[in-house]
Amino acid sequence: MPFLTQLADVARRTGSPVTEVAGWKTRGHGPQPEVQGIVCHHTAGPAGGGDYPSLAVVRDGRPGLDGPLSHFGLGRSGTIYVIAAGRCWHNAPSTSPRHDNSSSIGIEAENDGRQPWPQAQKDAYVRLCAELCREFGLPASRVKAHREVNTSKPDPHSIDMNDFRKAVEALLEGGEESELSWTEKIVKDLPVIRPGDDNYDVKTVRGCLFARGHVPSAAYTGIPEGLQGWLESTQCDSGLVELIRGFQRAKGLDEDGSVGPKTWPSLLRV
Ligand SMILES: [Zn+2]
Repeated sequence: MPFLTQLADVARRTGSPVTEVAGWKTRGHGPQPEVQGIVCHHTAGPAGGGDYPSLAVVRDGRPGLDGPLSHFGLGRSGTIYVIAAGRCWHNAPSTSPRHDNSSSIGIEAENDGRQPWPQAQKDAYVRLCAELCREFGLPASRVKAHREVNTSKPDPHSIDMNDFRKAVEALLEGGEESELSWTEKIVKDLPVIRPGDDNYDVKTVRGCLFARGHVPSAAYTGIPEGLQGWLESTQCDSGLVELIRGFQRAKGLDEDGSVGPKTWPSLLRV
């Protein structure tokens, strides 16, 4: 895996403000070998000092440990700081092979280790983890507190990680649904009607074609019960297929004579 230069875009998908820290795309202890997990930290920085006073430490390191110390910083306001695209020294030694420096992404959230978490910061924390899970194809269970994957660490303080992961999971599940438009949700449950089919949904196609003015009287004159008989037929016969093709031609759709995800919306006018 190369330098993770998509991280700023991933962060922006949270809807939180994003600050790209100069040089982040090439910052790292070499490229990031892989992403199997996410590790949540607190900075243990100063109690005050603005939104993200730990930036210089996380970017440049501290005596005995060179920066970058994590890929992301998270300010008290919920602003996401993109600090590094390569490997960071945020968790060693790790008790999990999926959460060591070579296999995981680190997030250092500003907090002195005791102070309460602002709601905006907590919300952004969950959303960032959810977007990272989505980007790298990880389940919410791969999001861990530093204290869960390193026996000598306490961070991030006072966050119930089971609740945190549930919130991440809810975002992951909710996101899939919201990616479907209203039309797509309706059409998803409709069957594809093909030439030769015989079922009740064929009647829906007939009714829609008639309502849209695509059934000339020649189609039903001469058959038993006339128009009513034509509308009641569950057969996708050659006559109906021709009318479907005519409708598709008029709408600029593929003239395949089947009613599927492209033709249904036009027929239903959704
Ligand atoms: Zn930590």
